[in-house]
Amino acid sequence: MVTAAPPPRSPFERAVALFEQAADDLRLEEEVRMLLRKPYRELHIEVPVRMDDGSLRVFAGYRVQHSGARGPYKGGVRYHPAADLEEVRTLAALMTWKCALVDLPFGGAKGGVRCDPTSMSVNELNRLTRRYTQNIGHIIGINRDIPAPDLGTNAQTMAWMMDAYGQLNGFTPGIVTGKPVELGGSLGRESATGRGALFFLQELCRELKRDPKRTTIAIQGYGNVGSWVARFASLAGFPVVAVSDVAGGVYRERGLDIEALDRHRQAGGGVADFPGGDRVTNEALLALPCAVLVPAALGDVITEANCHAVRAQIVIEGANHPVTVEADAALASRNVIVVPDILANAGGVTVSYFEWTQNIQQFRWDEERVVRELERILSGAYRSVRDLARERGLTMRRAAYVIAVERVAQAIRLRGFV
Ligand code: NAD
Repeated sequence: MVTAAPPPRSPFERAVALFEQAADDLRLEEEVRMLLRKPYRELHIEVPVRMDDGSLRVFAGYRVQHSGARGPYKGGVRYHPAADLEEVRTLAALMTWKCALVDLPFGGAKGGVRCDPTSMSVNELNRLTRRYTQNIGHIIGINRDIPAPDLGTNAQTMAWMMDAYGQLNGFTPGIVTGKPVELGGSLGRESATGRGALFFLQELCRELKRDPKRTTIAIQGYGNVGSWVARFASLAGFPVVAVSDVAGGVYRERGLDIEALDRHRQAGGGVADFPGGDRVTNEALLALPCAVLVPAALGDVITEANCHAVRAQIVIEGANHPVTVEADAALASRNVIVVPDILANAGGVTVSYFEWTQNIQQFRWDEERVVRELERILSGAYRSVRDLARERGLTMRRAAYVIAVERVAQAIRLRGFV
């Protein structure tokens, strides 16, 4: 008797399942599959840090390089209590496909440190970042692997990384992206991921002939990605009805005043205690009556267990893998359009690419040029995914993977690895 293969369990197994599906769609040769199933290199390091109280703590740190076939490895560094090798490995593979999909000359990587940055002082984070940079120093480089910020890290973290790397190698601003503008960061980088996510929503609305004013949006996560989606959406006339952060969220059926929310936060307030709406939990936010849902915090938040409660007709994946494979299939069967992470949040790495090229050329673009080039690249990627999805009757995710995997496979063939 033939039994069906068990469903993939771990996040990395699920990421591989997406790759295998695209590989099947492409009838990809087994030798190329063998090279792309697993990361090229995985580094697990100990990161000892002297804490402010004089004690020593040792944190687990990781850098995973998935595929360098199309260029230097590129990917963020995450500081989070749940960061582990499995997660970093999954995100590194995602970066390979994301860079290929938007046709950037980069491979995929990711880094992480298992720590709680919210409970550490600035000095402790500075020391942690320097030691982490030192310990991965032998595998990063301007033409080798270029880190960037991710969950729990920011422009300041990148400034410390650049400084630590520069102490050994001389001034090398291109070693990281997402730096402060004063240190060679690109104008428009901070807002790029949110800008890109909104760009895709606007493209979809044009196609579906949806009026932005009648297209309500709920956003989970009010960090770099979520807050910029909210600002751009609100400016473009979309009612942003709910936003949240780790402490909970706020909901107003007629739309929140995002400028007032930002002022409330600048004055030290939290998202959940913003007086311009009613409190809502993160779980309830996912089930609100809205047209668009933007999960922009953590992975695996829309699962088999709660996807039936999602009422939005469009999901824009601001975060990386916020929808599990099982939930994705369930949403597709209900004709919910999911703009997949490797497209939806690719604006960030695209402007990171601009930052890297500006650093190499020792030249600065103005913001207008950054936005123009960003929209040109994202628009090309969007059209290629949409056209393939229509032509073959695929979901946007499946079409995006087919395009990305074929590009990486072709680079491997041309290099003569196999
Ligand atoms: P961030 O650290 O700036 O913000 C994260 C937000 O999520 C914060 O508002 C935090 O309070 C909230 N959050 C944390 N835990 C939560 C929980 N359990 N429930 C609800 N909210 C929670 O991070 P970011 O840079 O905005 O990244 C968010 C996601 O987007 C991540 O998955 C990241 O990998 C992905 N991403 C970021 C970028 C980028 O350019 N920053 C690019 C591509 C993908």
